[in-house]
Amino acid sequence: SQKCMRAGGKHNDLENVGRTRRHHTFFEMLGNFSFGDYFKKEAIEYAWELVTKEYGLPVEKLYFTVLKNAAVGKTDTKPPHPKHIPKDEGAAEAWSNVGVPSHRIFYMGQKDNFWQMGESGPCGPCSEIHYDLGPQASDEGHADCAFPCDCGRYVEIWNLVFMEYNIDQKGYVTKLPKPSVDTGMGLERIAAVIQGKLSNFETDLLWPLVEEAEELAGVEYGEKHETDVSLRILADHSRAAAFLIHDGVLPSNEGRNYVLRLIIRRACYHGQRLDLNQPFLFKLAGRVAEMMKDAYPELLESSVHVAKVIRAEEERYARTTKVGLEQLDKAFVEITVEENKGAEMRFSDWRVLYSSHRGNVESLKRHVAQIKAPWAGPKALPPFLGWVTGEELFKLHDTFGLRPDFVEDIVRNYGLTVAYTAYDMEMQRQRERARASWKGVAKEVLSPVYAEVLKKGKTTFEGYQQITSRDCTVLALLRESNLVEELPTGAKAEVVLDHTPFYAEAGGQVGDAGVLLREDTQEVVATVEDTYSPVSGLIAHRILSRAPIRVGDRLTAVVDTEKREATKRNHTGTHLLHAALRQVLGTHVKQAGSVVEPNRLRFDFSHFASISEDELQEIERLANDAILRNTAVQTEILDLDVALETGAMAFFGEKYPDRVRVVSVPDFSKELCGGTHVTRTGDIGILKITHEGSISAGVRRVEAVTGEKALEQFQAVTSVVYELATALKTSPKELPAMLEKLTESQRQLEKQLESLKLKMAQAQLSDVESRVRSVKDIKVLSLQVDELDRGQMRSLADTLRQRLKSGVVVLATTTNGKVSLITALTSDLTKRLHAGKIAQAIAQRLGGTGGGRPDLAEAGGKNPALLGTVLNEVYEIIGSML
Ligand code: ATP
Ligand code: MG
Repeated sequence: SQKCMRAGGKHNDLENVGRTRRHHTFFEMLGNFSFGDYFKKEAIEYAWELVTKEYGLPVEKLYFTVLKNAAVGKTDTKPPHPKHIPKDEGAAEAWSNVGVPSHRIFYMGQKDNFWQMGESGPCGPCSEIHYDLGPQASDEGHADCAFPCDCGRYVEIWNLVFMEYNIDQKGYVTKLPKPSVDTGMGLERIAAVIQGKLSNFETDLLWPLVEEAEELAGVEYGEKHETDVSLRILADHSRAAAFLIHDGVLPSNEGRNYVLRLIIRRACYHGQRLDLNQPFLFKLAGRVAEMMKDAYPELLESSVHVAKVIRAEEERYARTTKVGLEQLDKAFVEITVEENKGAEMRFSDWRVLYSSHRGNVESLKRHVAQIKAPWAGPKALPPFLGWVTGEELFKLHDTFGLRPDFVEDIVRNYGLTVAYTAYDMEMQRQRERARASWKGVAKEVLSPVYAEVLKKGKTTFEGYQQITSRDCTVLALLRESNLVEELPTGAKAEVVLDHTPFYAEAGGQVGDAGVLLREDTQEVVATVEDTYSPVSGLIAHRILSRAPIRVGDRLTAVVDTEKREATKRNHTGTHLLHAALRQVLGTHVKQAGSVVEPNRLRFDFSHFASISEDELQEIERLANDAILRNTAVQTEILDLDVALETGAMAFFGEKYPDRVRVVSVPDFSKELCGGTHVTRTGDIGILKITHEGSISAGVRRVEAVTGEKALEQFQAVTSVVYELATALKTSPKELPAMLEKLTESQRQLEKQLESLKLKMAQAQLSDVESRVRSVKDIKVLSLQVDELDRGQMRSLADTLRQRLKSGVVVLATTTNGKVSLITALTSDLTKRLHAGKIAQAIAQRLGGTGGGRPDLAEAGGKNPALLGTVLNEVYEIIGSML
């Protein structure tokens, strides 16, 4: 038995799974092999013996196929290419000899009965055994179709491959000296046949999973086509996911890892269709280990890990596809009934329509035709075609992160496809639009002052190579936007030099700081606070002069290295973060803005879902991985077109010249960027994300620190943790448990306090009886209680009211110089008295207000000093109301 996965690559049955009752993504294939030992005749005899004698299947239910003919090998040379492979009479004869009547032997073409792994290598004819499950097994309701038919009635159980030929690298076909046999029988299919089931899913290999899914979803298998498909998918995919994860595959966006993600998502989607909106698949996968532990005991060891991975992926699905699926509902699908004439409608509308016409394609077609195509007339309509348009498909992927293959998988349930070609065109168009906008830079509005400066010359930026520039000439001096010839000491002004190592703020990176020195004496003449570019070609230094400066002076410009180095770390760090975000969250992540400062970096990007703690850690891990690899950061100047062609990421909407600078960390990140960067990624030291959140719909922000700041952050957090641990007399690791314990004991204490308070209040009531007085025929109790809140007073009033059986209760308490009061009466008295009116009357005497229901009311007052007296007056007040 071999474990098989057919959910991607050459053999991909994903689309079949669920739809049919005989396909799985994961299944077990039984087989026997001969390497140059027995061949066709023996293999057929063995198969016959096993199927008819051991399994006891009647020959009247079996069909046998053999190769009719095939053409293989190279097709463009002569002779004898391609090689013509003749009818496999040997196989037919062998079947005859064991006793198969000739009308049960079928000659079939190359597609079905010739096996070939790739362009070259061993190959040969094959012979298949099919079993007739009877007309009930037909998915298409065929009552008496004949073999071969694809409707589900005839199921291929065993394929015998006879490797007799070899195709060499050049495409020449030769006979193999030692022909071999390789056979494959689907365990689930033969189990269904032997157990007398119409479906693999009803065998003991899968039924417990179907049952568990039925129970989780509260539906029954066999009631409705749609739910059956979904239940089959849940059963199958939970098995596949469990085995894949057990074998070391983890869900992500590349290769087989993506196949796993797709399988889980497909299951989640079908779970949703069954109203399973909480993680459920991990439970089913847990059953898999139990069910299969006899054959695969190792599954038990990984079952906790498997459950964790699936659950995390289910949660991620819920988060990341929610918005995308809502968008898909709003997306337009195009339905064409006759060439070029179609209707466009929302996917959600189509879904409703499709479901209401379920099983009646003709009426659906007619309906569609009527929507927008009155031309269709009453004649029978050709089959309709429907797809999600390329534009929508592109938007769903580019903006909302739903991959086209996932969309296709969903819409297929509603008889639709997706427009892949149009999608590619849309992608191309988008690239061109972006390029056009990069090139179509609006002319800068030039302030006349800087136009003057430009006449004197431009600033050459030398900061990529050096941090000190000697012999820089002062081109211009500006004070409050006016050109001046000279600056006195202590002036805030701008200095423009003919060349400088100072980076002018751009692309999110802040400008440099530093000092300007007199060239000959090296005395400091100015501190540079910031640098920016007022117009392309000029770099202005914002300075505070420390000595007089004149136009034409010669200066040495020195950049503050500490600030520059820290900024560089954050800038390269930003690129790494960007790349890691795209790897973890998907390529729909696009930069929406960034700030690169010496102390921190901030990166805004498009993404519609929240980001989990796990994802954040993975992003951080990837970025730090790139740092640890200590790769050399490369910069090159390329034509814009070339740069974009090689996949460099650009900030949409940013203006780029024809020749652009490309900064790359090989195998990790490549961006158009004019900023300053570290030499090797290791210079960054470490990158720590400090904040993540949403800033507007579909835009999120991460902040991070690198280098020294990251160390500071690490030390600060660690020392707080240690302080806490010391204070709580425990170790950092035990902190969460300790805190949990403390919170719990606090909760207990609060509860105890509550009940104590109530007890105390009740103790005060020992003299309750003595305070009860009869006013006319009614029992009235007026009482002061201490330290009770409103809720407690109310429940106390209730208790007392019950104790009196029939009567009026007035309770009062004072807190913070205020009086609160409750009046309550038993329901039998509501015809004669009104609690609200009593409260009102009492409150008046206390300088407050009150009111409420006839049986329960509240009042407040500002005069606690009067409370004692007023409580004594209550009896009188009530008396006067009767
Ligand atoms: P089918 O046409 O039914 O998809 P196949 O031609 O792809 O079958 P083979 O590649 O010959 O099948 O595989 C050998 C055997 O493995 C088949 O005879 C069948 O019993 C089983 N098998 C193949 N694909 C699946 C699948 N997706 N799920 C379960 N069993 C399968
Ligand atoms: Mg197949």
